[in-house]
Amino acid sequence: MVGRREFMALGAGTALGMSAMAHSQEETAPRIRRYATLGRTGLKVSDISFGSASTSDAALVRHAFERGVNFFDTAESYHGGFAEEAIGEALQGRRDKVVLSSKTRAGARETRAGMMRALERSLKRLGTDYLDIYFNHAVDDVERMQNEEWWAFTELAKKQGKIRFRGMSGHGSDLVECLDYVIDKDLADVILVAYNFAQDPSFTDRLRHTFHWAAIQSDLPPRLKKAREKGIGVLAMKTLMGARLNDMRPYERPGSTFSNAAFRWVLSGGYADALLVSMTSKAEVDEYLRASGDAAVRQGDVQLLERYAQMQASSYCQSGCNACAGSCPEDVAIAEVLRTRMYAVDYGRPELARSEYAALGAPAAACLACAHQSCLGACPARIPIASFTREAAQRLG
Ligand code: SF4
Ligand code: SF4
Repeated sequence: MVGRREFMALGAGTALGMSAMAHSQEETAPRIRRYATLGRTGLKVSDISFGSASTSDAALVRHAFERGVNFFDTAESYHGGFAEEAIGEALQGRRDKVVLSSKTRAGARETRAGMMRALERSLKRLGTDYLDIYFNHAVDDVERMQNEEWWAFTELAKKQGKIRFRGMSGHGSDLVECLDYVIDKDLADVILVAYNFAQDPSFTDRLRHTFHWAAIQSDLPPRLKKAREKGIGVLAMKTLMGARLNDMRPYERPGSTFSNAAFRWVLSGGYADALLVSMTSKAEVDEYLRASGDAAVRQGDVQLLERYAQMQASSYCQSGCNACAGSCPEDVAIAEVLRTRMYAVDYGRPELARSEYAALGAPAAACLACAHQSCLGACPARIPIASFTREAAQRLG
């Protein structure tokens, strides 16, 4: 039998033991281990930074901040503005310690006054009087960057101290054309682009003889190189090629997950300064941050990436590829529609999928009644376009 004195001593010992364990767990908790310079902006950002497309949870933002993440990206459209509010709430009193960016979808005919109103609404939700970077969001048409109102607006906003740098984000079919325009005319300080290991020629070259899709990779990587050479900061998103993490769990080892391998590949490849990754739980933040600071891929990474690529090749529509353009007489923007389907099916984020689908103007409505299905066979990666676009229209329309 344990007496009260012994019990108290045991309790104290247990408490001490637990506190020591918690302390040592905290010491071994993953943290950001490298801050990258974002091109000529000079901003120092965590190599793995926080994307808020899939969350509006202030506690999650705080958790990432406590782990050393110092760059938080959002957009006016994420969760109907609640993502901006969550970041504003979580980072109150810490504005000088973080880099903040947000986005607006400025159209080809949008006026500078309309853009300024959008910016001011974002500032209010974020509880700050300036953004470090303001992006024109999801640019899928070069006309949007040709709109001189965007240039005039960003100049004015810079002068007024409301933004420090301007940017362009993109993941659409015309991404390469849009980047060419922006890079050649020097219209952005930072670009945020969908880019993952399966678009890196040094990865696809390994698979050229085993994969039919290796030959259809986009011209994206040379554009990213060119942007970096010009001093434009390059941020990579969608680095997980659809992020079907659960498909890979049986093949992972502790400390060596598919996501870590995918991040290490991009971080060490020379095409991007840093990554912006959608984070949806504390466990996910901790898993992702284990790849911070790694300058090289590790043993086992390539096998994980190859396995994933083999599993997803015929269902993942690669950003920047537009090989099926022109196959649809109804002008369905196939790549854009498949991106929204990916949010619903692969990410499991129906609300994000629906808002992106709506922002595109219900683009796959024609697929519901299409009898000719001329797009069949148009994808070199053998994606069943017609059934995927129809599924998107049914789920998201
Ligand atoms: S469906 Fe196929 S061909 Fe069309 S953009 Fe996607 S990957 Fe390229
Ligand atoms: S199913 Fe018909 S309408 Fe839809 S993308 Fe294919 S060809 Fe176009």
